[in-house]
Amino acid sequence: MSDPENSQNPKYKRVVLKLSGESLARAGERGISMEEVADISRQINQAQQLGCEIAIVCGGGNILRGAQFKEKNVSIQEATAHYMGMLATVINALALQDALEALGAQTRVMSAIRMDGVAEPYIRRRAKRHLEKGRVVIIAAGIGSPFVTTDTAAAQRALELEADILLKATRVDGVYSEDPEKNPHAVFYPELSFETVRDQGLQVMDSTAITHCMENKMPILVFNYKINGNIERAVQGETLGTYIG
Ligand code: UDP
Repeated sequence: MSDPENSQNPKYKRVVLKLSGESLARAGERGISMEEVADISRQINQAQQLGCEIAIVCGGGNILRGAQFKEKNVSIQEATAHYMGMLATVINALALQDALEALGAQTRVMSAIRMDGVAEPYIRRRAKRHLEKGRVVIIAAGIGSPFVTTDTAAAQRALELEADILLKATRVDGVYSEDPEKNPHAVFYPELSFETVRDQGLQVMDSTAITHCMENKMPILVFNYKINGNIERAVQGETLGTYIG
């Protein structure tokens, strides 16, 4: 819970933080590493204590992505696989919830697919109320519909929750001309327009998410969460990562 005594008036008062499923796993591995979950939760908790309202949209790629089943396995329809992917995000959300609460944060998991035993249904007005009360809202099951990713869900929720910015946490420092893990000479971009991202097909988020943010003027900050303190720096508006606006 944010402590008014410690509140430092962060630049962004309300953020949606997109965490991919892989941020909850060890590099190159699948599944959940509670060490990784604890590590990222600590950073989120510190950022929240600055007085920033945080809604997290969890990915599920560490467990399953619907597109994996495209044309590969006739016995699982692709739509079914997308629902399985959404359920994977709920598993991740529950892991994050316990890790955050172990640090003293108050949290609510809100799921776009009703699952009353483990999560509240996602209701926009209720989510805003939780944020206002200083609870970290963990948004699970994306938007509840197949054939999209949690990037799109993050863009959608950032808009409807009237976030100041969408924070996209990644394992690299921001957006590059090419994948920096494959080409060490890739050029880093500290700032980009949505049009450039779209026209050059830069790998930031999926195209639906980019279009959503571009059309509704929702800025995105892509940054490296592996550098300790970067989530706090991001909410304080320090220069880091790639700002897209
Ligand atoms: N998914 C979906 N609808 C949503 C959000 C997610 O169908 O609104 C499915 C989709 O199959 C996706 C999977 O859930 O691949 C896991 O999410 P994502 O791939 O975005 O996770 P990340 O790559 O961020 O770990």
